[in-house]
Amino acid sequence: MTFPLPPGSTIGILGGGQLGRMLAMAAARLGFDVAVLTPEPNAPASRVAARTFQADYEDPAALDDLADASDVITFEFENVPAGALEHLARRGAAIAPGARALAVAQDRLAEKTFLNAAGLATVAFAKVDVVDDITDALKQLGAPLLLKTRRGGYDGKGQVWVRPGEEAGAFAAIGGRPAIVEAPANFTRECAVIGARGRDGRIALYPLTESHHQGGILRRTVAPAPGSSDTRASAEAIAGRLLAALDYVGVLGVELFEAADGSLTVNEFAPRVHNTGHWTLDAGLTDQFEQHVRAVAGWPLGPTRPAVDVEMINLLGDDIAGWARYAVDPTCRLWLYGKPQSRPGRKMGHINRLGKSTRGI
Ligand code: AMP
Repeated sequence: MTFPLPPGSTIGILGGGQLGRMLAMAAARLGFDVAVLTPEPNAPASRVAARTFQADYEDPAALDDLADASDVITFEFENVPAGALEHLARRGAAIAPGARALAVAQDRLAEKTFLNAAGLATVAFAKVDVVDDITDALKQLGAPLLLKTRRGGYDGKGQVWVRPGEEAGAFAAIGGRPAIVEAPANFTRECAVIGARGRDGRIALYPLTESHHQGGILRRTVAPAPGSSDTRASAEAIAGRLLAALDYVGVLGVELFEAADGSLTVNEFAPRVHNTGHWTLDAGLTDQFEQHVRAVAGWPLGPTRPAVDVEMINLLGDDIAGWARYAVDPTCRLWLYGKPQSRPGRKMGHINRLGKSTRGI
């Protein structure tokens, strides 16, 4: 495959959720078609994509169909099984970001180890395979510690605080699966930065944003984050270093903890477009979805400067019932994901409230 891909080429996406939907919409704007592979019937992305292969991620025939239909293949969530990418790579498919970034991000132990090796600070952590590993870590790192499954956790799931005496119960609570324990991050604020790296190695970074969570789920993003220019610069340095260390192509989201002294540690990164970058849809000169499409297609990256201050608010569960109110609010841009069923905490859509505002939902 030669890059840049011309308009009219097809971008394959593993995953059919809202991130795939917004990627497909951005791709269409640049004249690309999208082919989606998802196990989900009637998925949010399928409803705006040119083609969908509905199958398990590791279905070899469906992966072959996706490879045949696509000029480049990307993914919209990080729990795509490694076997799927291996199969596509054997077929000679162009995949971006690469399998390595995905493998590192899928495993909290590999992720933190990689970050530290790249010179990026994280909280202290230790590997947990058996209950005694937790006891040892409590002696070495102090108490309490946050026990997290190595794989498959998201939105705060698969995590439990543990103190001496509680090791066995905590390990059982996360299903006795391979895990890590982390020292508490004494943060005063959670932040995030979205970065992109093109096929030519050029990097474009969006400004630091402030994240507000509720019950482990992102509720609100304030962009740009208020605060010192030193903090913003160090966030950008972290994201730039990570993108280069991963030899990354595409958009990546980095979640950060800010301490009282303004110093930053990395919580985790997502090798994909990210919820903390949804504000770019209405307030960025190039939104993160277009940026990702540009990067994987080998196009030059677009400008990342915010055009206006913005607050992104996720519409979770029944929040979506307020859609008509947001639709007539002149300060609001409304994005709905076309999910037929609302469940508590389910991401149904979001609004971008433009201009300085702390009105919330
Ligand atoms: P994660 O799934 O790792 O992103 O964690 C979900 C949320 O749990 C984060 O956004 C933080 O609010 C909190 N959290 C994660 N790790 C730590 C930690 N080491 N110390 C304190 N809070 C944490």
